[in-house]
Amino acid sequence: MRRTVLVTGGSSGIGLETARAFVACGERVIICSRDNEKLARAALELGVESHVLDVTDQKAVEDLFEAIGPLDALVANAGICQQARLDDTQSDDVWRRTLDINLNGVYHCLKAAQRTMPEGSAIVTVSSGLGKNARAGYEAYTASKHAVLGLTKCVALELAPRNIRVNAVCPGWVDTPMSQADAAEGARRAGLAEDDFRRQAVEAIPLGRMVDPAEVASLIFFLCSSAARAITGQSYNVSCGEFTN
Ligand code: NAD
Repeated sequence: MRRTVLVTGGSSGIGLETARAFVACGERVIICSRDNEKLARAALELGVESHVLDVTDQKAVEDLFEAIGPLDALVANAGICQQARLDDTQSDDVWRRTLDINLNGVYHCLKAAQRTMPEGSAIVTVSSGLGKNARAGYEAYTASKHAVLGLTKCVALELAPRNIRVNAVCPGWVDTPMSQADAAEGARRAGLAEDDFRRQAVEAIPLGRMVDPAEVASLIFFLCSSAARAITGQSYNVSCGEFTN
């Protein structure tokens, strides 16, 4: 039976490749993101339904999910990554904005989606290797991604009696517009040319390369499939060995 799958942040990077993986299997896919133009391009490319949505707007999330009706799978992927050390002038803004999008946004989507999700459906949240580890200057991002794992585990237990499974993926360094901007910022802060910064970062990854967004999509696709029907409340790294816990 054709499933209905909603991917937040589906206009770009991991979300776009996740939507593509579901489309390839003939599912009804709906993508949302807050950027109009990129979203329209992605929807046209994939031939899917799309909605502009800011996940921090709880009312907008509830209205959209109600209008769409029951989802067989939700991929709560939308997120941002901004570096800010405690003494940076923008650190308070980054803290609030990051928690609002990366944590509150996921909470809004989970809460709204579960109301109508049928038995056997699945939710995947997109955390990060920094959901279990730490890196100086990534306080807001790391805190938000740790919190997503806590939320994922609690909701998994809450929805288990309805046979709705909830799991998280924890990507390492994935080649997307987000990580490209982050690498540029990392290079600036380290006083390195961007190419040198990227080369050093890649050399430190055990498999010697970045993760392809489609490789994260494969894991998400598996966790939403019946092959993963015994798996709930778990989180899985997909990081080319960058993270081992
Ligand atoms: P990306 O920038 O390519 O895509 C992010 C998507 O989220 C875009 O579609 C954007 O419009 C959407 N988005 C951002 N704020 C939003 C909001 N308020 N409401 C709705 N949509 C919003 O980035 P990506 O790398 O594909 O990131 C996807 C997810 O993967 C994020 O949660 C990110 O934290 C996580 N992640 C990425 C990496 C990486 O290295 N790229 C590593 C670990 C985790």
